[in-house]
Amino acid sequence: MDRPLLMIPGPIEISPAVQRAAAAPPPGHLVASFMEDFARALAAMRDVWRAGPDAQPFVVSGSGTLAMEMAIANVVDAGDRVVIVQTGFFSDRLAEMARRRGAVVTVVTADAGCAPPVASVADAIDRIKPKVLGVTHVDTSTGVRVDAEGLAKLARAAGVLSVFDGVCATGAEPFEMEAWGADVYLTASQKAIGLPPGLALLVAGPRAIEARAGLKALPPLSIDFDAWQPVMQAYEAGRPSYFATPATSLVGALRVGLDEIVGTGDPAVAMAARWAMHARAAAALREGFAELGLLPLPASPEITANTLSALLYPAGIGPALVGAVRERGVIVAGGLHPARKDAYFRVGHMGWAAGSTDALLRTVLAIGEALVAQGHATDVEQAVTRTAAALSA
Ligand SMILES: *Cc1c(COP(=O)(O)O)cnc(C)c1O
Repeated sequence: MDRPLLMIPGPIEISPAVQRAAAAPPPGHLVASFMEDFARALAAMRDVWRAGPDAQPFVVSGSGTLAMEMAIANVVDAGDRVVIVQTGFFSDRLAEMARRRGAVVTVVTADAGCAPPVASVADAIDRIKPKVLGVTHVDTSTGVRVDAEGLAKLARAAGVLSVFDGVCATGAEPFEMEAWGADVYLTASQKAIGLPPGLALLVAGPRAIEARAGLKALPPLSIDFDAWQPVMQAYEAGRPSYFATPATSLVGALRVGLDEIVGTGDPAVAMAARWAMHARAAAALREGFAELGLLPLPASPEITANTLSALLYPAGIGPALVGAVRERGVIVAGGLHPARKDAYFRVGHMGWAAGSTDALLRTVLAIGEALVAQGHATDVEQAVTRTAAALSA
């Protein structure tokens, strides 16, 4: 059988061109071709993030967790008040990082599969007057997507810095960093950006850079905005610089991956098309999943992400389904929210796979056949047909 299809919420299937770029002999960090790739990658990040000219992109070696830590460490000081919007496993991680930084953290809570209403977050901001609002754009543990526009604008209007963890969203879910007034938007290379794991990617707006300048407790040197900003500025201007060795192979792949997303035309048009591709793939899969009797964990369509599906096991089916799907050539993921992790499984559909009819149909087929093998009566052929029909509509 072919190599199994990787349909988890990161790492994801990557495009052939990105794969080639990542597999090239590692360039030196001071050679001309690398500097050109880095300059283009940084400029393209502004386009993908929909960030303004005064925002600063950062590319640092590490995972999404490091990007989260970098954001928190540079805008949160000991004693600061921080409000976190609870959506699941990853918002809890963001809260823990803020606590370790010495912040006084208030969590606006929500049950698994839910997101707090913007009005509840507004109440918390009124009451607490925090310095920072921390939000997980899509919580990969539950497939819940928050109202990022509502929350970013709320924070901006209240003079609160907003930090958005976009690790399972950036490049796939609508986000307008500049227009909405968000202050930090971060992700990792192995999610919707479509690269192998290894890069922490973050864009900080001017208010976030200013917050770093005002810190009493300095951030760890390796993730300090101040240490990295001159390096990023130099590379974007086509000049070499050094603070710590960049992941040169991945930066080359980043240039290719971001160019696949935004190209050289109007970034607003390219990003709208990219977001629409993910919305279409998610909607088509939902048709197929509904036919198979799989209901989403997220409580309503408005908060259901387009980058992954968290699906409740039907009666009589449990976590053994994941292995049965794997035997049919597709890798999906188990549940992750501590309160309900044995009640659902997760299917990633971002990046290259979201644009591949074959990958999406193979996924529905493998899940359907695994369900039948486990004793759940369902019409697999009809599920595949419904998915295909939605994709070609
Ligand atoms: C994957 C993910 C992370 C963690 O990223 P790592 O690369 O695993 O460190 C953080 N937040 C969200 C929303 C994620 O999806």
